[in-house]
Amino acid sequence: MKSDTLPRFPLAEFPTPVHHLESFSKQLNGPAIYMKRDDLTSLGMGGNKTRKLEFLIGEALEQKKETLVTAGGLQSNHCRLTAAAAKKAGLNCHLVLSGTEPGAANGNLILDKIFGARIHYCDRAERDETLCQVADELETADKHPYVIPVGGSNSTGSVGYVNAMLELDAQLKEAGIRPDAIVFATSSGGTQAGLTLGAKITGFRGRVLGMSIDQTKTGNNPFPPVLTEIANGTARRLNLDIRLTEKDFPLNCDYLGAGYAVPGDLEFNVIRDLARHEGILLGPVYTARAMGGLVDLIQKGVFKKGQTVLFWHTGGTPELFAWADQIENKM
Ligand SMILES: *Cc1c(COP(=O)(O)O)cnc(C)c1O
Repeated sequence: MKSDTLPRFPLAEFPTPVHHLESFSKQLNGPAIYMKRDDLTSLGMGGNKTRKLEFLIGEALEQKKETLVTAGGLQSNHCRLTAAAAKKAGLNCHLVLSGTEPGAANGNLILDKIFGARIHYCDRAERDETLCQVADELETADKHPYVIPVGGSNSTGSVGYVNAMLELDAQLKEAGIRPDAIVFATSSGGTQAGLTLGAKITGFRGRVLGMSIDQTKTGNNPFPPVLTEIANGTARRLNLDIRLTEKDFPLNCDYLGAGYAVPGDLEFNVIRDLARHEGILLGPVYTARAMGGLVDLIQKGVFKKGQTVLFWHTGGTPELFAWADQIENKM
């Protein structure tokens, strides 16, 4: 595939492991649950943005850029990993974070500081504008900025998740596992776009089901067209003769709770249960919401005994420390 010729900066060791969650599956008395451990990508506490950043930084270096600029929420995993990856690649990093600077930084924010990122705080409504402004100032100052969109979700970053699906396909074949569904947290779309395109390439027969963290199917900013655009841009970048439509992206939007980065009982309960059955941690913003949703679908009989489900762990465990007070009360 053409991804072999795209510029890529190595950030972690692959493949990440696939684990059978025996005790957790047994407790739920439903399908056999497997987990793809992208929380274990070996850079800066791990997560799904690592795979995207390999291709984004590959492109930045090819274009002789010197400063990475990106944006996200105060507890953005994407921003933390961009800060870490920048240092490994010998680049500077500016982060535009929506929210007010807290008295004491914790979770991903303290990691951003440890990785030496320059942080610009702003209101959520002004985030895109601030990102452009910071990039313009860096350009004027001759710092050669390379702007990475929120979540690293564009046709460059998404190549990382096309490759990830090929990687998983080889692991499943080797182990003789045939999942009926792959389930994962989806938010800015690059992961789902890449996995879905990868599933077309490998001929994966099951469902590739995105559990929405904050996106909706309709409304002002519907998500399916975003997924389609990223996936088809990625297909073009890879010279693939594949075009996807909105129907190709199964999406569950039933577990949005009280909003983005507002975890509740769904998230806290599954953090506790998975930790106590498997010794594996989830992050309250993304992976606990997606796994909490999966558990509910299992309890409703959508996934049953005799079936196999693979949960793609996309990382986010450093978020735990930013919600420590609430979590402690629930344990
Ligand atoms: C960013 C992120 C996601 C969502 O991935 P997208 O490609 O943005 O849809 C899921 N889980 C974690 C932990 C993340 O940080």
